[in-house]
Amino acid sequence: MMKNRENTRLILVSNRLPIVLKKIANEEYQVQSASGGLVTAMTPILKRDGGLWIGWAGNYSEESVEVEKLLKKEAEKLNYEYRSVDITLNEYKLYYKGFSNEVLWPLFHNVSVFCNFVPKYYEAFKKVNKKFAKTVIDELIDGDFIWVHDYHLINMAKELREEGIKNRVVFFLHIPFPPVETFNRLPWRLEIVEAMLSYDLIGFQTALDKKNFLEAVVSLIKRAVIEDEKLEISKITIDKKEHQVGVFPISIDYDEFHDRAKSKRVSKEVEKIKKEYHHQKIMLGVDRLDYSKGILQKLRAYWKLLDENHDLHKKVKLIQIIVPSRENIIKYIHLKSDIEQLVSEINGEFTQPGWIPIQYCYYSLNNTELLAYYRASDIAMVTPLRDGMNLVAKEYCATNINKNGVLILSEFAGTKDQFKDNALLVNPFDENSVVEAIKKALLMDEKEKQRRMKNMQKIVKEFDIYWWVDRFLKASKI
Ligand code: UDP
Repeated sequence: MMKNRENTRLILVSNRLPIVLKKIANEEYQVQSASGGLVTAMTPILKRDGGLWIGWAGNYSEESVEVEKLLKKEAEKLNYEYRSVDITLNEYKLYYKGFSNEVLWPLFHNVSVFCNFVPKYYEAFKKVNKKFAKTVIDELIDGDFIWVHDYHLINMAKELREEGIKNRVVFFLHIPFPPVETFNRLPWRLEIVEAMLSYDLIGFQTALDKKNFLEAVVSLIKRAVIEDEKLEISKITIDKKEHQVGVFPISIDYDEFHDRAKSKRVSKEVEKIKKEYHHQKIMLGVDRLDYSKGILQKLRAYWKLLDENHDLHKKVKLIQIIVPSRENIIKYIHLKSDIEQLVSEINGEFTQPGWIPIQYCYYSLNNTELLAYYRASDIAMVTPLRDGMNLVAKEYCATNINKNGVLILSEFAGTKDQFKDNALLVNPFDENSVVEAIKKALLMDEKEKQRRMKNMQKIVKEFDIYWWVDRFLKASKI
């Protein structure tokens, strides 16, 4: 067993393990590392301190893959271990696709009309969270510190406490927490708030998320006493039990993004992109397929811009990358077709020889391509209707080697709290505000671009992912 310097082992729990099992030959599988913010954030910490990561490894029961055996073999090469949670495919669908992504996701992003409050989903959510808790208990020893990630696993600490577990258990919510009047539409609102209060520390992305949560607690649990409400870390006391609630804006590995963006490979790709678009002003959108990202609203604003400013025709180009996501949920299937319809209408109306106004890509980019698109763009359009943080905004700044890119940023993205008006802030629901911001970005002088970008880079560099992890662990008092 691996313990860190303070003799406290870190047990990290997330919905998915940070690996994928890849078939390399008949019946033969290989463990490969997955990508994503949490993986990048936590891997260096586990490498440094050791620990155990618990999550779902995917469904391989039909192929009769011995997942645990593969994970154990993988751990021999590492300073830390993996353990998978045994969930059936049907349970996973109801808990993940159902409760997590058809209830909690829309509710927490403040679109409760998209929620399917199906009791069967909630039952599966509780059952699967219990399975996660049981897997943790199987591995647990005194002094272990348990850090649970994100909305899929809100119920875990409650399950652990019901089994008599006294270890320190903390939680970070990667997505926003909604205003109280939205949250209270949830049929299981009291249970969910009580479940969150089974953690010793509950972390949020922004001060607003924390405030919303405190308001929900006060509205549902009258005996809750809140202290230090306005500070970054507040305290809730209920029946003598104390809980901390804090603000921890997640980030990226600035140096790694910055250095990789400077590489020869990326620089070559940047030149290729610029040439391909005849040095038009490139506006870039990189969004996972999701209604919270405001992609339709962004496209409509671009339409208005082209409609009202014919002088910009042939001079600007919107490259919209959509990363496929949750393709088996009906709302996402409809969203994809609405986006494609709108893109073809805009391209249909304005295309001229040598110029197509929107380049639409529905696929995941490799790392070199992504960094090259970031670098080649004159303007990044990060305009979600609601977003916990939005790492694309931070990555765009970290990779802006020439410091001449302009970030157009939604006031409803968590990133706004840190970038403030160094970005051009817009209300994504207001087409006019987006159109005006694009025009301002196109006319902005070099000096102002440099000043704004330098400030944003400084913020991402200082408050990077290592800062985030350290701050969270310090607040967790380990
Ligand atoms: N990203 C990706 N593949 C791509 C384009 C982007 O994996 O083709 C990554 C991007 O680098 C970023 C993440 O997806 O780290 C998106 O994170 P963000 O916080 O912006 O939004 P989320 O998808 O988590 O809602």
